[in-house]
Amino acid sequence: MAIDETCIFCKLAHHEIPTQVVYEDDSVFAFEDAEPQAPVHVLVVPKDHYQDASDDVPDELMAKLMKAANKVAQIKGVDKSGYRILTNKGSDAGQTVFHLHIHVLGGTESKSRLF
Ligand code: 5GP
Ligand code: ZN
Repeated sequence: MAIDETCIFCKLAHHEIPTQVVYEDDSVFAFEDAEPQAPVHVLVVPKDHYQDASDDVPDELMAKLMKAANKVAQIKGVDKSGYRILTNKGSDAGQTVFHLHIHVLGGTESKSRLF
């Protein structure tokens, strides 16, 4: 596993720091966002460290992340009502944690269509 010892999401994904786990498998970890922006706000991350979605992420892993995001929506009960999945890259997008993560947001009607 490629882990960055200084990365908070690596520590969470490898159980070095406790968190509210929503879903986990061999390569993916999903947990509640610490500052939720919607009634449902879960982060889906690879257990391996990648900076963001443009960081040469293997196709298979990217597919697993997307599948896990949809599974998280089912687990949280928003698969029928709808949800948004998004990932930020870089400063204009407001990325603050530089370990690839997919936000799963739902549980209320979105106030903005996209950005
Ligand atoms: P970004 O802006 O990088 O796309 O999103 C980072 C997200 O990570 C934010 O929504 C923030 O609330 C969340 N976050 C940052 N640090 C922690 C943490 O230590 N634990 C959890 N559960 N979420 C965190
Ligand atoms: Zn990391």
